[in-house]
Amino acid sequence: MEILNEKIEQLRAMLSEPELNVVILSHTNPDGDAVGSSIAWAEALRRVGHRVTCIVPNKYPYYLDWMSGIKDLVVFKQDKEGVAQKAVREADMIFCLDFHTLSRLDAPLSELIETNREAKRVLIDHHLDPSEDFALMFSHPESSSTSYLVYCLIERLWGAKSIDAKQAEVLYVGMMTDTGNFSFSHLTPDLYRAVAVLAETGIDIPKIYNNVYNSFTEGRARLFGYVINRKMRLMRKGTVAHLSLTEDEMRRFWFQQGDSEGFVNYPLTIKKMKMSAIFVEHHDFIRVSLRSRGNVDVNLFAARYFEGGGHKNAAGGKSFVSMAETIARFEKAVEEWAEEGNL
Ligand code: 5GP
Ligand code: MN
Repeated sequence: MEILNEKIEQLRAMLSEPELNVVILSHTNPDGDAVGSSIAWAEALRRVGHRVTCIVPNKYPYYLDWMSGIKDLVVFKQDKEGVAQKAVREADMIFCLDFHTLSRLDAPLSELIETNREAKRVLIDHHLDPSEDFALMFSHPESSSTSYLVYCLIERLWGAKSIDAKQAEVLYVGMMTDTGNFSFSHLTPDLYRAVAVLAETGIDIPKIYNNVYNSFTEGRARLFGYVINRKMRLMRKGTVAHLSLTEDEMRRFWFQQGDSEGFVNYPLTIKKMKMSAIFVEHHDFIRVSLRSRGNVDVNLFAARYFEGGGHKNAAGGKSFVSMAETIARFEKAVEEWAEEGNL
């Protein structure tokens, strides 16, 4: 990965001040990459003498519970004691990991961040179109995960040998989950070299895989079967698919946060499928997740039709109308999109 030397030296200079109060912040609905990159980066900064608080806006999914260091994350929504508030107020530096703009955070948290304009803000991220309010930006959409980016930063700042097994494990989680177990795009030789370095620390790769992918509930398995069988609709000669989940359906299958993770990928296992969407009902909006193959750019689609964004082949957004209307709007948008030659 091409990270400019000048930026590395800028970061090194910032971190050379002793005992900084650092906040590491990641995105809403934190996933393996958000959590893995945050924990590993926090550990690296603690090791050089800084005080670090990791904040996530809401709870991470249960299948990440086993990760070491995850219990130290401050979950902003459940933070009764005001740990996050104190950490943000006192912060000398705020790192934003795995998201590209503060507007992706819910208002109470983004407002809290705004109360401290003194802290130096640094972005470490791999999403498209970062916003400009950072003193230093490591914005690398060509990186398959933020965890790989954090690996590269640690390597440049302190050497890859400084990565211990605990960091290697959480970084591997991030790399594995954001690449669909090394099956999506941006799988560079350098990424595999990084994985080799992580493997050398002695991490148990099959165990990590099992902990993440084979630790779901019975309800999730049954919900998955239901959604694919009963809720998958195909459009445009089977090249576009959409799925949907209402709150009532989720209740019926004892839904827990994270249970619908990955469902949207499944229609893409069908030959010729180009684009897939899932609509998941929350009590005040519908979350839209989009996936695509090859040149179909769902980042642009999400930005244009669902107030969202993300990556070319994986993006998301929100809808503030009913499920039926959301689906109707999606189908109309797909037709418009296709007419313009984007599908
Ligand atoms: P997922 O479908 O897994 O929730 O999200 C896929 C990708 O789209 C992630 O990289 C995520 O950051 C991005 N994404 C999801 N929802 C939104 C959104 O509402 N706004 C923006 N800008 N990006 C989103
Ligand atoms: Mn990521």
